[in-house]
Amino acid sequence: MTSAGNSKEVKKDEIAELARRRGFLWQAFEIYGGAAGFYDYGPLGARLKRRIEEEWRDFYTREGFYEIETTNIAPREIFESSGHLESFADQAVVCNHCKNFFRVAEGVKVSENCPECGGELEAAGEFNLMFQTRIGVPKGESDSGVKKSEGYLRPETAQGIFLNFQRLLRFNRDKLPFGIIQIGKAYRNEISPRKSLIRLREFTMAEAEVFVDPKEKNNHPRFEDVKDRMLRIVPGEDEGGEEEEESLEEAVRSGIIANEYLGYHIAKVDEFLERIGIPRAKVRFRQHLREEMAHYATDCWDAEFLSERYGWMEIVGVADRGDYDLSAHASFSNADMSVHTEPEKIIPHVIEPSYGIDRIIYALLESSFYEEQVGKEKRKVLRLKSEITPIKAAVFPLLNRDELKKKAREVFQKLRDASIFVEYDDSGSIGRRYRRQDEIGTPYCITIDYETLEDNTVTIRERDTMKQVRVPIAEVKDVLLKRE
Ligand code: AMP
Repeated sequence: MTSAGNSKEVKKDEIAELARRRGFLWQAFEIYGGAAGFYDYGPLGARLKRRIEEEWRDFYTREGFYEIETTNIAPREIFESSGHLESFADQAVVCNHCKNFFRVAEGVKVSENCPECGGELEAAGEFNLMFQTRIGVPKGESDSGVKKSEGYLRPETAQGIFLNFQRLLRFNRDKLPFGIIQIGKAYRNEISPRKSLIRLREFTMAEAEVFVDPKEKNNHPRFEDVKDRMLRIVPGEDEGGEEEEESLEEAVRSGIIANEYLGYHIAKVDEFLERIGIPRAKVRFRQHLREEMAHYATDCWDAEFLSERYGWMEIVGVADRGDYDLSAHASFSNADMSVHTEPEKIIPHVIEPSYGIDRIIYALLESSFYEEQVGKEKRKVLRLKSEITPIKAAVFPLLNRDELKKKAREVFQKLRDASIFVEYDDSGSIGRRYRRQDEIGTPYCITIDYETLEDNTVTIRERDTMKQVRVPIAEVKDVLLKRE
């Protein structure tokens, strides 16, 4: 078995084509010509996404964090206080010739020519990335000339957590530290969203906000558990910016990573990405340069994935937001965001791992796609981990005969009744059915043949090795549920 055809060009088109054809990902509003930066997940994509989110929820729930769900729309004043109205903006350039806009941070500068048509570029100013909306019927203007009905779609889920801080603290019996998670949509009116799932205008974030006493930042209760984890890191300008491999403990003790809490959560991100199957060799942590840092961050590290198509790209951000957000909301709303810790009152600091689920899905599709020569044929296979595949197993009757179909339907229903997501397929040759399941990453195919009718055993074919074993029907469930 050889791995062939993994060159960049082949791979990029193959994955996009497979994702479309097999029902993972569709351009939104396709029948109206589509719109840049908007994608819909088809039946398999939606299942894959849901399973990744479930793994994520489970992972952070084990940290003892509770999940909340807050609104997608908020009145203007929320984002005045949070600093997003003033600072959540990108610099743009525009092409004199084709009139396309580009984001300066993407490496396109005024001094260069247009990447689309070669025309001359000129500075086009700063664009705020938030989508504006109206809440209710406009009721005229306030004294300051700002419409009271003005609202915005959230550009991150985090603000909803900060706004509920007092209630969350009480929920946690007034004690620090504690963590809160949220999974939900975020909206950013990106200037030039030309890269499928990488730069969307509506995307899913999974965020954890960890509230900690600033004096305790170097004292994480479970630092021991992760301190020996080796990390590939690229420190920012103060540390020379050279990529290096170090244990988390070394990175924190030498001050490259500012504190134990930040370090602990960087290690947890690394652990989660490995758990869902992103190859470790394709992950590194890069510290933001000062000019890259968001307005709220005091330190920020990106988990980057090495894409064959896009190079290193951010898939998770881990920020030390200090007391920026709670202090800002305290001073704008007059709410008390402080916590009594003997002998004083403090404003907690926030450590925030912020995952982009869509980029993670892209990284998983790209890194798990293989084309292999098997005999005369090319086999396309998604080697996704069985914990996240959209479909756990497919059930086939070997031949299109009523007695085999009846038995296969029974096995299928039995597994569905046990909450295992299986698919039934009796269309086309068995080879074609295997190929389809390989392409969508299904780890097991169960075939019912004439022997099954005699002794209640089936064959289970394993996706990666293509090996087949005979198993009693009563044991199928256990084989499917074992965790590698
Ligand atoms: P940020 O708050 O900018 O650090 O974003 C956190 C995470 O959200 C990033 O690591 C990305 O994975 C994801 N993300 C940010 N912007 C976009 C976008 N326009 N489209 C898709 N994912 C995004």
